[in-house]
Amino acid sequence: MLKFDVLTIFPQMFSGPLDESILKRAQEEELIEIELSNIRDFATDKHSQVDDYSYGGGAGMVMKPGPIFRAVESVNSKEAEVILMSPQGRVLEQDLVCELAQQQHLVLICGRYEGVDERIREELIDREISIGDYVLTGGELPAMVLIDAVSRMIPGVLGKEESAVEDSFYQGILDYPHYTRPREYQGLGVPEVLLSGDHQRIAEWRRRAALKNTLLNRPELLAEAELSAEDEEILAELKQEFLKSVEDGVE
Ligand code: SAM
Repeated sequence: MLKFDVLTIFPQMFSGPLDESILKRAQEEELIEIELSNIRDFATDKHSQVDDYSYGGGAGMVMKPGPIFRAVESVNSKEAEVILMSPQGRVLEQDLVCELAQQQHLVLICGRYEGVDERIREELIDREISIGDYVLTGGELPAMVLIDAVSRMIPGVLGKEESAVEDSFYQGILDYPHYTRPREYQGLGVPEVLLSGDHQRIAEWRRRAALKNTLLNRPELLAEAELSAEDEEILAELKQEFLKSVEDGVE
């Protein structure tokens, strides 16, 4: 069981995404637990203020240290890893997702405004995680992205049919194309091999298609991916095909 404690000033944003489908089932089956705490409940002044002016001026509001320190203290545990959702953190990729899925307790702090007081970073945080090189209005959507990606790596959360092993990034390359019924849609068919029932040929077609997707869309992934000698041969063929199609186009 992995417990997520989310510290936010907008806990109501989480209802919906976490209460449907696979994440709902995972909570019901006690594979994950998600607890939301409102940082505002840890403010001590009469207006429950969680933000204040930036020292030095000229910038927007900053989240005060007190409420966040107290909120973390209220949920912390020996096993907890305290994570600040932040555009300045390590970008969340599949290897980090798999690493986080090994943990027992993740505390996710959702920033707002210009971000959090630097002393929170210095004293409370084990790591900062970003969901990509762009800036959002708050850490709530990033926290939901992290919870979703990490939860599906926990054994039992995905059904056998939904296995993550062939998903994009899991083996370092992109997924292969998928087709479903009808067999013909608006004159568009399905590759014959997928209808053949020949599992060996289907597996070969899928691997080749996954390598092709990766070569065309994310070639930089191939440098890090674990590739067999057969994969390398397929890639060499695909590159030849690609070069030939360019040459044919030029002629
Ligand atoms: N001034 C900050 C900066 O430039 O680094 C950005 C603050 S942002 C408007 C407010 C909060 O949204 C951040 O504290 C963080 O919690 C969250 N946030 C924004 N973009 C994010 C991203 N790409 N990944 C994770 N969290 C993000």
